[in-house]
Amino acid sequence: MEIDRDILVGYTKTFINRYNCYPQQQADGHYFKAPRQLTFELVEEHLKGTITLGAYALNDQNYAKWICLDADDAIEWYGLMGIARQFAEQQMTTYLEPSRRGGHLWLFVDPLPGKDARRFAKYLLAQHKLEGLEVYPKQDVLRTGVGSLVRLPLGIHRKAVPPRRFTFKTLDGDDLAPTIREQMAILAHPQKVSADYVRSVLAAIPESKQVFPTPTFKPGQVIDLDQPVSERIKGAMSVRDFVGQYVDLDRSNRGLCPFHDDHRQSFSVSEDGNYWHCFAGCGGGSIIDFYMKLEAKDFKQAVSDLARLLLPPLF
Ligand SMILES: [Zn+2]
Repeated sequence: MEIDRDILVGYTKTFINRYNCYPQQQADGHYFKAPRQLTFELVEEHLKGTITLGAYALNDQNYAKWICLDADDAIEWYGLMGIARQFAEQQMTTYLEPSRRGGHLWLFVDPLPGKDARRFAKYLLAQHKLEGLEVYPKQDVLRTGVGSLVRLPLGIHRKAVPPRRFTFKTLDGDDLAPTIREQMAILAHPQKVSADYVRSVLAAIPESKQVFPTPTFKPGQVIDLDQPVSERIKGAMSVRDFVGQYVDLDRSNRGLCPFHDDHRQSFSVSEDGNYWHCFAGCGGGSIIDFYMKLEAKDFKQAVSDLARLLLPPLF
């Protein structure tokens, strides 16, 4: 398959947010981060099917130029079609990329801070009662590493049995274009969601979670003054609620670990045990352990900060 240079360049510019490294899918479906320059030739290999790449969702300035909503099953997929239909009714184009069970809905935008891209996406999901779906970018800003990634479309999905290519479809279920090459040409110059519309939505919805937790206390909450301050802190707020202000946890309380370059949702919170844990070896524990690691503070500093944040003033 010959791919015209202008299609290749346009396609690359549509999806790729950084060029200093790239994720390549392995046979088991996982991605390996290649610490090398991403070239047009590599994207061409992807489109030809010899390798399979992912696309990072944020650039190094924490901006996104696309939003990808991820449906895991048929029910969620019908939900995403509802969003696509709503945009179509407003004369705006979004792109449906079904996979075996669910699929991706892609929205292309003028570059937006990751935080705003996510606010916009979460608003759309909430409008359609789809709050549990995953949003890419997964991070408002990158604390460490390169952040979340999505399989670059129109390549071969290595883990599918047999490995195969998923193409874009219309709302009626037809192919977006009859040939892969024509689909590539469309995605090389996709239609964007109107910037005015994005602005109007963002202006109308509240800011997302603050960077710092501002917990509220129920009147009458008992803080046992016989306990050491560290224990009072642990009793003041659940690990789920505290950590959830920093990490986007899904329905099963899993998320991307903020302490390493995570693509596998290695981070989890146990509500029963009231602790957090990273399966990739970043440790785990209480609110205090989390805060120490996040802010690079020692135990004493962390307890002092958290007492100020979480405990009612003593008087
Ligand atoms: Zn970790």
